[in-house]
Amino acid sequence: MPCGKGSALTRRPFLFFRPRIGSVTLSILTALYALAILNQTFWAKAATNLAGQTTVLVTLAIGLAAAFIAIFVTLSVKYLTKPVLMIFVLAGAASGWFMDQFGVVIDKEMIRNAAETSGPEAGHLLTSAFVLHIFLVGILPCLLIAWVKISHRPFLHKVGYNMAVIIPSVLVFTGAAYSQAGTFAFTIRQHRDWFETLNPLFPIGSTILYAIGAGEEHGIVAQPLGLDARVSDAEADIKGLRKPRVTIVVVGETARASSFQLGGYEQPTNPELSQEDIVYFKDTTSCGTATAVSVPCMFSGLGRSNYSHTKGLASENLMDVLSHAGIRTEWWDNNTGSKGMALRIPYKELYRTNDPRFCENGECKDEILLDQLDNWLNSVDHDAVLVLHQLGSHGPAYYARYPDAYRRFTPDCRSSEFSACHRQEIINAYDNSILYTDHVLATIIHKLKAQETRIAPSMIYMSDHGESLGEKGLFLHGAPWIVAPAQQTHIPFVLWLGQEARAKTARGCWSHQATEPQSHDNLFHTVLGLMQVETKVHDKTKDLYSSCVKVES
Ligand SMILES: [Zn+2]
Repeated sequence: MPCGKGSALTRRPFLFFRPRIGSVTLSILTALYALAILNQTFWAKAATNLAGQTTVLVTLAIGLAAAFIAIFVTLSVKYLTKPVLMIFVLAGAASGWFMDQFGVVIDKEMIRNAAETSGPEAGHLLTSAFVLHIFLVGILPCLLIAWVKISHRPFLHKVGYNMAVIIPSVLVFTGAAYSQAGTFAFTIRQHRDWFETLNPLFPIGSTILYAIGAGEEHGIVAQPLGLDARVSDAEADIKGLRKPRVTIVVVGETARASSFQLGGYEQPTNPELSQEDIVYFKDTTSCGTATAVSVPCMFSGLGRSNYSHTKGLASENLMDVLSHAGIRTEWWDNNTGSKGMALRIPYKELYRTNDPRFCENGECKDEILLDQLDNWLNSVDHDAVLVLHQLGSHGPAYYARYPDAYRRFTPDCRSSEFSACHRQEIINAYDNSILYTDHVLATIIHKLKAQETRIAPSMIYMSDHGESLGEKGLFLHGAPWIVAPAQQTHIPFVLWLGQEARAKTARGCWSHQATEPQSHDNLFHTVLGLMQVETKVHDKTKDLYSSCVKVES
C-alpha cells in the first residue's frame, strides 16, 4: 500500500485532529449558545412578561440573536477571538447559576459585594452542584472552543467579511426593536430587572462599570466630618460628676423583619428579647440590599436618597464624628470587615482569631462578640460607643450561623445547596439563626444592665438588609433596591435604653415612633442624640432619641 498523505492523516490520533472553523462561524455559534443556554432566567421572565404575545416573543428572540451575533462577531479579532469567547461563556455560566438558583441580579453592587466577601463566605456558594454546572455549561464549551482551529483570513478580507455579518445583524436588531417598540418599552418599564438578567452582557457590563468606578475612586481621601462635635455635658463626664454614657451599636447581618416575632412573625424567634423592655420599630427600611451598600450608607449620615459609594468614601463617618467629640470608639467585627467605617478608630477582626470555642472553617458564631464584652465594659471610664458587627443570618449556609443549642426549628437545612432541601427546611435554618441573634442581643442587654451602677447604657440593633427565602422564587439578597422585594429591604430595628436614658424620654412617644416608618437614615443621628453630641451635622428630625426626650418645664 502506498504511503500517501491521506493515510498519514488517518493514522493521526483523534486528539490531534482539530476541525477548522471560520472565526465568524465560531462567534455566531457561541453567541447563539450564550443566548439560548445561558439565559434561562431571562427567557423565563420573557415568557411571563410577554405571556400570550407570541409574535412579540419571536421578534424579541430574533432581535436578540442578531444583537448577540453583532457583538460577538465585532469582538472576533485575531488572537482575541478564543479568549473573548471563553470569558463570555465562563462568565455567563457562573452568572447564570446565581440568577437561575437564587434569582439574584449581577449588577455593579453585586460585583462589589462579591469582591468584598470573605473566602469562607464565598466557599459556601461553591457547592458540588455549582462545580458540575460550571463544568457542563462553561468548561466543556470552552474546551470545544480551544479544540477547533480558526482559519484566519487576510486582515482587509476579514474586516469586509465581519462587516458583512455585523451590518445586516444590526439592521435586523433595529428592525425587530422598532417593529415592537411600544410593547418592549412598556414591558421593560414594568419589569425593570428583566433586562438585567441578560447574560453574559449585563454581568460583564457591571464588572466593567465596577472596575472603572474602583479605578476612579482609588485615592479618594475622606474629608473631615463634624469637627465641631462635642458632648453637651462633657465636663461632667471628665470630672466624674455623671456616669459615662455607653452605646453599643449592633450591626446585624441579613436579618429580615418578616422573620422577627417582635414584628408579628408567627414563629417564636424572639423569646428572649420579648422579655426585655425594648422598642421595636416595626416599619424600618434599609439603605441597600447588600452589606457593601448598607453599612457605609447607614454610618455616612448622607441618607439613602443622597448616598453613593463615592460620596461615602469622600467623607468621614459617624465613628469619626463621635471621636471628634472626645468619645471612645471601637469596632469589633465578626463579618467581612467594617467596609471602611473603622479605618480611623480601634478595630478588631474577631473572625480572624479562629478561636476554637466559636470558630470553624474560618467563620465564627456571633457569641465571639460577647466574649470580651464584660472586660471592655469594666474598662470604660468615660463616654464610649462600641460597634459589634455580626455575621447574623448570612446565607446560604444558615445552619453554620447557630450552635446546636439554638437548633429549635427543625428539620433545618444542613446544606448551602438549596436544591438539597425543602423550602421549609431552609426557612427553619434561617429562623434558628434569628433565634440565635435574639439570644446575642438579649445577652448584650443583660451585660449592660449589670453595669448600670457605673454607666448609663443603651443598645441599638439594626440589620443591614433583609433576605428572600423563596418568595417569588427569589433567594438571598442583593436585588436592585428600587425593585427589591420587601423581604430584602424591611429590616428589624431594636432600641434598648438603660434606666437613665429611658427616664428622660416619654413612653408614649416611643409607642408612636415604633409604628412610624423609620430607616437606616435614623442611625447616624440617633446615636449622636443618645451620646448627647452637639454638631452641625446632627439632624434632630432624624434623631429618634432626642425627639422622645421630655421637655423640662
Ligand atoms: Zn449584609
